[in-house]
Amino acid sequence: MIVAHLPAGYIVSTLLFRRFAKYGVSGINFLRAGLLGSIAPDLDMVYFYGFDHRAHPHHSYFSHFPSVWLLLLTLAILCFQHCRHKKLPVLALIFTGNGMLHMVLDYISTNIYWLAPFVNKPFALIKVPSVYQDWWLNFLLHRSFVLEILLVIWATGLWFRRRLNRLELVE
Ligand SMILES: [Zn+2]
Repeated sequence: MIVAHLPAGYIVSTLLFRRFAKYGVSGINFLRAGLLGSIAPDLDMVYFYGFDHRAHPHHSYFSHFPSVWLLLLTLAILCFQHCRHKKLPVLALIFTGNGMLHMVLDYISTNIYWLAPFVNKPFALIKVPSVYQDWWLNFLLHRSFVLEILLVIWATGLWFRRRLNRLELVE
């Protein structure tokens, strides 16, 4: 997935906030944590370009292992269930939940190592053929990109609705 991680994070954060507002967390902080979680796995691009010099696919780093995000999400759920003060656990929940969503969205058209670190084998729901020299053009002109466009349209629609109705995240 190229452009729709942030829009997907926006959609999930916006739709889920109503359920968590009662724990005292502000809408803007909930949205910030959700948006950050939705792109957090891709922060490994700094290492990919800056230190690894593109030697390994960045989806093979631990930051793109679903097991890591599942572990973090489980810890966030446990904190949410057992901590007396819920504000931070709620932020951790939306952060790690959107991080896990990132894994699922990446899996649609790119390799995700679902069983790492135990099995070093990538899986992809759809194989995007390498037709053009520029890797991003292969994704942009593939039919799977329609999903990204739909997510962008959905997120934009939600954003405009909130603006028009002067709504906070909670409705
Ligand atoms: Zn990614």
